[in-house]
Amino acid sequence: MELKKNEIYTSEIIDYTTEGNGICKINGAAVFVPNAAVGDTAEIRIVKTEKKFAYGKIEKIITSSHDRIEPDCGIFRQCGGCNFRHISYEAELSFKQKRVSDALTRIGGVGVDVIEKIVGAPENSGYRNKAQLPITKDRDGKIRVGFFAPRSHRVIPLDRCALQTPVFNKAIDIFLEWANDAKVSVYDEVQHSGVLRHLYLRYAAKTDELMVCIVANADSLRKEKMLTEKLVESLPNLKTVVLNTNTEKTNVITGKKCRNLYGDGYITDELCGLKFRISPLSFYQVNRDQAEKLYEIAAEFADLKKGETLVDLYCGTGTIGLSMSNQVGKLIGVEIIPQAIEDAKKNAERNNIINSEFICADAALAAVKLHKMKIVPDCIILDPPRKGCDSSLISTVADMSPKRIVYVSCDPATLARDVKLFAENGYHVVRAVPVDMFPRTTHVECVVLMTKSD
Ligand code: SAH
Repeated sequence: MELKKNEIYTSEIIDYTTEGNGICKINGAAVFVPNAAVGDTAEIRIVKTEKKFAYGKIEKIITSSHDRIEPDCGIFRQCGGCNFRHISYEAELSFKQKRVSDALTRIGGVGVDVIEKIVGAPENSGYRNKAQLPITKDRDGKIRVGFFAPRSHRVIPLDRCALQTPVFNKAIDIFLEWANDAKVSVYDEVQHSGVLRHLYLRYAAKTDELMVCIVANADSLRKEKMLTEKLVESLPNLKTVVLNTNTEKTNVITGKKCRNLYGDGYITDELCGLKFRISPLSFYQVNRDQAEKLYEIAAEFADLKKGETLVDLYCGTGTIGLSMSNQVGKLIGVEIIPQAIEDAKKNAERNNIINSEFICADAALAAVKLHKMKIVPDCIILDPPRKGCDSSLISTVADMSPKRIVYVSCDPATLARDVKLFAENGYHVVRAVPVDMFPRTTHVECVVLMTKSD
């Protein structure tokens, strides 16, 4: 029997999709249901049908799942930031464990025995040290910041977010007070007019340093001195204020140009006992405490010895490689963003690390070059963005023949795809540890150790 739109069926939620929606089976078809919990039995209204599946919506819960908890955020259902405010953290961790395990075993061909227990986070709110808040006007014409609704460009006005460090709250208030007083125009992405685009905040949790960056469709702001003065006056931990200019018609948040309105344009955090400088355009892990755990696992997997050569591909500001540099003879980091490489070099200098070299290039191209230069790394670290590694990079890395490959991934599906390619190139997974860096979302990180197959 086919499913009909608007028809209501009673069914039990049996699993989650990778996006965190509930799945139930109705008349043999999979139905995806947002905000559902595995174990719920509910009346589900079909809202959209496709050939082999449908989308549904909970009309009424008949029996509630044991995993359910009361969401502690007023806009959980409208905002696209969190997926799991309605189930316990234990249930969320088991979803993440299964997500990694399913991907690695089904796509990656990895044995289930090498996948270890997920490392959970002690804090599942206030952990984010970075916020990029779209600026909008509410119904009364007041300037607000907010969050995008799921899969949309509609901004839901909200000045507080439970995932972000509460340190941001005061900065948000001061910024909004200034923006409303100074009557600065708000960017309109349809008309491509107006000035204020995003309020971008970063916080170094260990050193208590705050960065405020305003992303604007302009090179300067009305009354920008007043803004800086107000921020400096009220925020003792404020280290820098930056104006980032983005005049492009794009979804990319930041533009290339930064101008310091106050301070040096960066903050400094401490990670694994080293100091790292963070500028608006360079990558830094958003959950500092869990990043430290992630890097500890990566270091254990890398198992480095004095005199060895370590290559850190997709190195960002150099954090992973530099945190292991005292264990090796030579460290080479590769990263594509110039500002991040600049930061990586400064980070090495600042921490008196003299055995490191950083190259600004595409990882796949740089690997070919290093191989041609007859560099023979003992260990290669890979930490690519979500889309994973280039297939050409995988064969070059295998040709370089390192004893160990440590792959840090933020996407289980591309990790699994790449692991399979590595297997075809003579490397197999010996350990895999999922790490939860992003509580209350479906995202999960994973560190994998690969060695040469016999
Ligand atoms: N290892 C770092 C950064 C990981 S994020 C850390 O833990 O902090 C992934 C990094 O890969 C980003 O800094 C991004 O700019 C970089 N990147 C993306 N595509 C790349 C490519 N083709 N070649 C090299 N680096 C790339």
